[in-house]
Amino acid sequence: MNYIVFDLEWNQSPGGKKNSNSRLPFEIIEIGAVKLNEQFETVDSFQRLIKPQVYNWIHDSIHEVIHVNYKDLMKGIPFPQAAREFLEWCGDERCFFTWGNQDLMELQRNLKYYEMLYLLPGPVRYYNVQKIFSICFEDRGIRRSLEHAIDFLNIEKKEDFHRALADAYYTGAVLKKIDWDYIFPNYSIDVYQNPKSRKEEIHISYPAYDIYVSREFDDKERIMKDREVSSTRCPVCHIPAKRKIRWFMNNSKIYESLSVCQKHGFVRGKIKIRRTEEEKFYAVKTLRVVTMEDAEELREKRESLRLKKQMKRRLT
Ligand SMILES: [Zn+2]
Repeated sequence: MNYIVFDLEWNQSPGGKKNSNSRLPFEIIEIGAVKLNEQFETVDSFQRLIKPQVYNWIHDSIHEVIHVNYKDLMKGIPFPQAAREFLEWCGDERCFFTWGNQDLMELQRNLKYYEMLYLLPGPVRYYNVQKIFSICFEDRGIRRSLEHAIDFLNIEKKEDFHRALADAYYTGAVLKKIDWDYIFPNYSIDVYQNPKSRKEEIHISYPAYDIYVSREFDDKERIMKDREVSSTRCPVCHIPAKRKIRWFMNNSKIYESLSVCQKHGFVRGKIKIRRTEEEKFYAVKTLRVVTMEDAEELREKRESLRLKKQMKRRLT
């Protein structure tokens, strides 16, 4: 098994959103990666500059952070060639590590743009080192910059940040400092290539919570009526937990619910509805055992939302 730690740099429309290509809002301009063996020793590295095909100038905000100039990029190779070389270099037996959750998605979006997505079938399993750093050293929820993690772990800074190979190298350096017990149970699944059928739906059990990703639906309203989507099984014993607060939508358009498992106590549910590029919809559900205080907080949240709605109705 090859452990591939990679990082991408991308450009966006220099003319702002109105000139952006909606199929490719972020055009990859550099791929950098290091290959680790199963003992996490670095065995190889990979770096390619990519000649842009979609955006013909570097967006100012990108220029400020990544220090690549357009002249250098013109010496790069086309994305299809770079991507093919990269995936070949990764090998068949490989597993991805990235800082954050965006790189894998943008890689797939660029592959799709060039009709090459078949080279990386999804959903793609990977490790988000930024998230694992938080689980290992912080509170699980907070997300730090790569440079913050490097300082925190006293790793020597040899190269500038925000070039693909350097960031891949630094991400690998952070990874090497994390105990394996924190890494391997905490994998992520990128659902840019979301489940299409019931058979492809994803169920994952983590130590602290369960995640479910539904198949896709044509219309948004039908999702919450689906029995599997709205079910609330306890993440510990997987027996249906009795609903105490029905699914309701909170202010950030996330559905929430509260249930009780007789053995394991309160179970808090969250459902986010996601839209695909083809205008279909799917649900991502999280079920987590919570404390009585968390349960009470949710009850109050629902109550205040209900009151606000009532007031609105009275005023109109
Ligand atoms: Zn239970």
